[in-house]
Amino acid sequence: MTTLDERAMVRRPPAGRQPVRARPEHVLVPIGLGAAAVIGLWWHDTPAVSGFGDWLTNAGRITGLLAGFAAVVLVALMARIPALERGVGTDRLARWHAMGGRYMVWLVVAHALLITWGYAVTAHTDPVHQAKTLLLSYPDVLMATVAALLFVGVGIVSARAARRRMRYETWYYLHFYTYLAIALAFSHQFATGADFMDSLPARVLWSALYVFVGALLVWFRFTVPVWRAFRHRMRVEGVYREGPGVVSVWVRGRHLDELRAEPGQFFRWRFLTRDLWWASNPYSLSAPARPDMLRVTVKTFGEHSGALSRLRPGTRVFAEGPYGAFTAGRRRQRKVLLLAGGVGITPVRALFETLPGSPGDLTLVYRATDWSDVVFQEELRQIAEARGAALHYLVGSRRDLGGDPLSPQVLTRILPDLSAHDVYVCGPDGMANAAKAALHQAGVPRRRIHHESFEF
Ligand SMILES: Cc1cc2nc3c(=O)[nH]c(=O)nc-3n(C[C@H](O)[C@H](O)[C@H](O)COP(=O)(O)OP(=O)(O)OC[C@H]3O[C@@H](n4cnc5c(N)ncnc54)[C@H](O)[C@@H]3O)c2cc1C
Repeated sequence: MTTLDERAMVRRPPAGRQPVRARPEHVLVPIGLGAAAVIGLWWHDTPAVSGFGDWLTNAGRITGLLAGFAAVVLVALMARIPALERGVGTDRLARWHAMGGRYMVWLVVAHALLITWGYAVTAHTDPVHQAKTLLLSYPDVLMATVAALLFVGVGIVSARAARRRMRYETWYYLHFYTYLAIALAFSHQFATGADFMDSLPARVLWSALYVFVGALLVWFRFTVPVWRAFRHRMRVEGVYREGPGVVSVWVRGRHLDELRAEPGQFFRWRFLTRDLWWASNPYSLSAPARPDMLRVTVKTFGEHSGALSRLRPGTRVFAEGPYGAFTAGRRRQRKVLLLAGGVGITPVRALFETLPGSPGDLTLVYRATDWSDVVFQEELRQIAEARGAALHYLVGSRRDLGGDPLSPQVLTRILPDLSAHDVYVCGPDGMANAAKAALHQAGVPRRRIHHESFEF
């Protein structure tokens, strides 16, 4: 294994203009205002509601409008917009997307049922007959019904229990049906939606919203990655064993400083071999980015990660990113505790080297159940020594360590002024959640606990 000096890593993130970072409120406030505007549109177009059928139909109109709005919001959240990725964080965006997706599916179902029932009551017929009439007389409604079924289907496969039984890639590619669903549902909004049929400005604004978000999606998820692939021409430089079942992959490329990847961030990596080209997996940078080289370190337990140890030098690499907000930008306090569990050390290792700080400001606590799981020992020792930072290992089972190794008592014994720290946590979700609870109990406010989850 080469040493830290031989690898000549860069000590600081590239200088220059700071990347733009959105804050959560920059996303949530426009979403709230947009939803209010949608309800305002319905209000403006509805002078009065009279009778049970009309109430049902209007409830159906509101749920339909909100579902149409939710669809573009959900796509925008996943458009990989850099300011959102860096500021809000990919994991939080994914959580919002998942939660919003559940609401949207219910809105779509409610819309279909309420509109059909409302029309049926007004026309003094039964809902089944009314549904048949709508499907057979309006081709746009038929397409929208197919779209609704696709939304419900994607909702079902995204439910936790179903997702756990499915390969990640199967779930991921099934998700693409939502784009088809959005396209299929679009025309019925203008063909049958009372709020759009008679209002050209409403149609123009609604279309502009869809076109704008569609353009963001194509730009950030397709154009930029393809352009970058040509610009940076990444290839595997070498694969090095860091420990049992853990390898580092070094990737060489041109002008990598232009990516402005920050320590703590990750890329989605697609290695263009016969077996791996179709999968794109997220791995964090385990060292600060160099202008000619990036490094990731991977625990090889699954199909994709396992195949990385067999990568040959020269293999072409397609990397999307950088993504994630687990960076120095989140920091509020001078003193920082970095808390890593298992392979969660990867982004933490990069932060340990680069977070600005004087001697005494930085502490790294590295938790593992066995010494064979501990990687980067020599690198961490060198960084700690060079920076005057503290390094603690909590290695062993709970029994070996005589209780919970991440309890508030243990953590405050290591750092008596723990509550004055910012804390960066990365590790298996079970460990990270327990650590977050312990930190909070020890007096660290939640807003100063920054967590990177390896599970979306
Ligand atoms: C932001 C982030 C950073 C990460 N950084 C690292 C790292 O530095 N080192 C490391 O060893 N691991 C890291 N991981 C975890 C790593 O991505 C997964 O363990 C790996 O992709 C699993 O693939 P597999 O084929 O080995 O296992 P599989 O058995 O195929 O998958 C195991 C589980 O990993 C998750 N997963 C699989 N594929 C993907 C995918 N394409 N996108 C998101 N999740 C997926 C799913 O939850 C799946 O159930 C990171 C994950 C995330 C989300």
